[in-house]
Amino acid sequence: MAETNLQILLRRRPQGAPVPEDFEIVETPVPEPAEGEVLVRARWLSLDPYMRGRMSDAKSYAKPVEIGAVMEGQTAGEVVASRAPGFAPGDTVLGGYGWQRFSCVQPARLFRIDPQEAPLSASLGVLGMPGLTAWVGLEDIGQPKAGETMVVSAASGAVGQVVGQIGKIRGCKVVGIAGGRKKCDFVTGELGFDACLDHHEDLDAQLDKACPEGIDVYWENVGGPVQAAVFPRLNDFGRMVMCGMIAQYNIAPGADASGAPPGPNLGPVVRKRLRIQGFIVSDTGWPRYPEFRRQMLGWLREGRVRWREDVVEGLRNAPDAFIGLLQGRNFGKLVVKVD
Ligand code: NDP
Repeated sequence: MAETNLQILLRRRPQGAPVPEDFEIVETPVPEPAEGEVLVRARWLSLDPYMRGRMSDAKSYAKPVEIGAVMEGQTAGEVVASRAPGFAPGDTVLGGYGWQRFSCVQPARLFRIDPQEAPLSASLGVLGMPGLTAWVGLEDIGQPKAGETMVVSAASGAVGQVVGQIGKIRGCKVVGIAGGRKKCDFVTGELGFDACLDHHEDLDAQLDKACPEGIDVYWENVGGPVQAAVFPRLNDFGRMVMCGMIAQYNIAPGADASGAPPGPNLGPVVRKRLRIQGFIVSDTGWPRYPEFRRQMLGWLREGRVRWREDVVEGLRNAPDAFIGLLQGRNFGKLVVKVD
């Protein structure tokens, strides 16, 4: 039987948390590359929180996925046919070609990677967009210095695990925040953070105990009550790296304030001379990808950075896994093994 292209489409825009009915799984013929294109077979698909934003048509920094279109996402795979100079069947490539098994892409949208350097899926996590996010956000905004205290939320996740380990390399005391004992044990035991606090328990009391000297760098991945607990503990000249606020992604824009999680009172920003800055990795990150990859590969080889993946088998299971990501069901970087 001829091979088909399995694709996952956006059927409708979610109201609140996404549900399986928001997606549609279809099988279509494998596309033929046009002149100048390559046909890529995805081996791994990355599932990331930003995809919730692409399902919405609220104003944002990126265009939404159209209804009926393939869900957007980064994949790592191989070239199976090429009508573009410089690419040949068998080449291993990284690119944003969506929740589908096959796609025809312009070479300008592909990074060629050496599969000998690290397992392919790592190029979607520690060596990919999440790792780059951690590296860029710390270089440009967090600027951790030896002896400072850094707090990282969603610490066992794709971005958080890298942020905290770079913090340790920079000589900081690093305190993670994660959901549940198992994740916290991993963050301290495997990743080497100095402490990890469970946000399902009394975070104020835990922060008082873990950070009596206050907090110099807060890496914000979640928002909501976690942010409200950390913010008042920032020291003078503290930096708050606003990477994401996953706890708020399912709240409709313009929702009445009573539906939103509590946020901090920003009054102390002036008195403490805080720096609070948001960033999007794609603003400045990708031109620096080769430099980041070189440095991260060095840290991986030296054993100074470790990573954990949460592997989901089969592209058909991507919608359920993505729904779980927004509920904290993943443990580590969430990737889908496509076949
Ligand atoms: P993770 O692998 O960390 O997975 C998401 C985790 O968020 C969950 O496992 C869960 O961990 C936590 N979480 C989910 N819901 C809540 C909640 N209501 N309250 C507290 N924690 C919650 O994801 P990533 O590392 O890929 O992404 C982390 C953040 O970084 C996201 O906000 C994402 O949007 C952002 N991001 C931003 C980028 C940028 O360019 N600015 C680029 C990439 C990511 P737990 O069980 O520990 O609570």
